Amino acid sequence: MTLPGSPFLSWRGQELFLENVKLADLVRQHGSPLYVYSRRAMLAALAPYQRALQGRPHLICYAVKANSNLAVLQTFAQAGCGFDIVSAGELARVLAAGGDAAKVVFSGVGKTRSEMAQALQAGVKCFNVESTAELEVLSQVAAGLGLTARVSLRVNPDVDAGTHPYISTGLKGNKFGVAHDQALATYRRAATLPGIQVVGIDCHIGSQITDVSPYLDALDRVLDLVEAIEAAGVTIHHLDLGGGLGITYTDEQPPKADELIAQLLAKIDARGHGQREVMFEPGRSLVGNAGVLLTEVLFLKEGEQKNFCVVDAAMNDLMRPALYEAWMGIVNTQQRSDGTLTWDVVGPVCESGDWLGRDRSLAVQAGDVLAVLSAGAYGMTMASNYNTRGRAAEVMVDGSQTWVIRERETVEQLIANERLI
Ligand SMILES: *Cc1c(COP(=O)(O)O)cnc(C)c1O
Repeated sequence: MTLPGSPFLSWRGQELFLENVKLADLVRQHGSPLYVYSRRAMLAALAPYQRALQGRPHLICYAVKANSNLAVLQTFAQAGCGFDIVSAGELARVLAAGGDAAKVVFSGVGKTRSEMAQALQAGVKCFNVESTAELEVLSQVAAGLGLTARVSLRVNPDVDAGTHPYISTGLKGNKFGVAHDQALATYRRAATLPGIQVVGIDCHIGSQITDVSPYLDALDRVLDLVEAIEAAGVTIHHLDLGGGLGITYTDEQPPKADELIAQLLAKIDARGHGQREVMFEPGRSLVGNAGVLLTEVLFLKEGEQKNFCVVDAAMNDLMRPALYEAWMGIVNTQQRSDGTLTWDVVGPVCESGDWLGRDRSLAVQAGDVLAVLSAGAYGMTMASNYNTRGRAAEVMVDGSQTWVIRERETVEQLIANERLI
């Protein structure tokens, strides 16, 4: 049975292992549902980024929203990464995990004044600003604190990343970034504001991108702008090309990070921009295939039209199938040789959209532990408490070692902030 995209998952006999750890055992020890991540898989995914950028000024800023567990952030901080954050909450996580504020870029279309102030006081490397209105407010906040905000404008290159509409961000109709034809004027404005220092330019065109060409198109558009901006007398130090590189969930064949970067650097050099610091903001491609969601089978419901395999994980634990109709691999962690049927794997939440996989061929019995694959990115970070379900526990694996990196949420914690009238 194949395991798409997950080199650190393997079958040993009939049992599914992540590195040297038998996954079914983890559920026996820590309960279900349970997110499990491989530390080595994360570092192995980072290595091609680091290799490709070696020898030139660069910074890899892990996009915290993909998986924001403190131990995950700690892993990337220790590996030398910076971070791409989208809230003051994420900034607090980075600092709590030992990350360096001077390597943090603050993205997002709706930063509040309070978030700006916290990031300024922490000393973040750069604000990726998305509108003129934000620029004016940021300048006020910075000047009020006697500080200067280093900024990069997130420009919208108007390229189609060929991805799902909900995760495409670089088209004119998206809410993200400064329109390409407004960028020069916005940079001119930025250069006049007292609390602002222009340091770079950035773009981020979408997520789960499986082609090099949209990146190359966006880069050309960005470099055109850099040349125009510098001709107007505003200096651009760094180029931040965002994140978005896809992973294999089923049969996608995204470019390898080092191949993608080699092509981008070749263009940067060919156009005479080789001296600039180059930054990337990868999220999914660093953690997506490093994690699985384990879930126990509660009941089997065979029906006239459909067979339902009811598991104890639901859309509140893993939202991607419900939100994007995403396909994620599902395997039984203990392979059975007989009784294969076609199942819809569904959770207990009271919504018909609450499914993890449809029409899956599985040999399964009640009590078995299933693994939803490629669940390391946008899994736990999107989890909610819908149906008053406490969020899952998380475990990190490294070789044969395991750590609980987040305890299971209790019902006491869920109601702790509520009050009777
Ligand atoms: C979400 C996001 C990323 C990371 O995207 P991935 O597809 O997970 O690599 C990077 N930069 C910005 C601005 C983002 O919003």
